[in-house]
Amino acid sequence: MLASRLPGILPDLTDREAVEVTAVHSVAGTFDPGGGLIRRPPYEDPHHTATQAAVVGGGSGIPRPGAVSRAHRGILFLDEAPEFGARVLETLRQPLEQGELVIHRSGGAARYPARFQLVMAANPCPCGLAIGKGLECSCSPTLRRRYFARLSGPLLDRVDVQVEVQPVDRVERMEGTSEPTSAVAARVLAARQAARARLADTPWSTNAEMPGRFLRDLLRPHPGLLAPIEKAMTAGRLSLRGVDRVLRIAWSIADLAGRAAPTVADVGNALLLRTGGEHD
Ligand SMILES: [Zn+2]
Repeated sequence: MLASRLPGILPDLTDREAVEVTAVHSVAGTFDPGGGLIRRPPYEDPHHTATQAAVVGGGSGIPRPGAVSRAHRGILFLDEAPEFGARVLETLRQPLEQGELVIHRSGGAARYPARFQLVMAANPCPCGLAIGKGLECSCSPTLRRRYFARLSGPLLDRVDVQVEVQPVDRVERMEGTSEPTSAVAARVLAARQAARARLADTPWSTNAEMPGRFLRDLLRPHPGLLAPIEKAMTAGRLSLRGVDRVLRIAWSIADLAGRAAPTVADVGNALLLRTGGEHD
């Protein structure tokens, strides 16, 4: 439910993005010309039984864009992610790094944009009951480990935020946590505008696009900020790639709070979102 609500809090696409997204959906055959340019971030949630061609693109003749490309500038949601084929999951690494997908065919290759926000959901184990103390779970430790191992280390390393979600009945008991979509959307828009203004002299416009070197230069005047990260690295809880990802989240937390730069607490919270839900 949270994943399907995500497009609702994202800002409208820019003119350039709208043209890109509309072009992909035209080629995919999922564009309704009566509706004009696609202005809202798309949402794609392929089922784990979907074919490789349906998820990442392909088919006979000219390869068609799959769900991964139709989610360009929007949300790609994989429910029960460990159930997806290993090949499909591995293929996601290319678009996550490069924002595009090249589909090779004997007659040549097709290149489609695929810059999406990936959301994956997974049960804690095959039976789904290993929540909290997991007393009702009937899976063996080996089975549980194998289930998560299907989400490979290199793929998970590219996922910025990894959190354990509590069962709904416990969440319902918490009060004062509900907020209308419009209020969240306004905050997200303001955060995006702050990032865009900061990155005005660069080729990038969102925190997600900032390369590692640029990120570290940006924080050079605040060396104390990196202390929590260095501690996590020394303890082996964070990879080198993870460091950049934590810094990007820290900037997003600061932008959402209307701060000019992340604080130590922002970096600490970003670190918690990255490493708080580790399963081993
Ligand atoms: Zn279980």
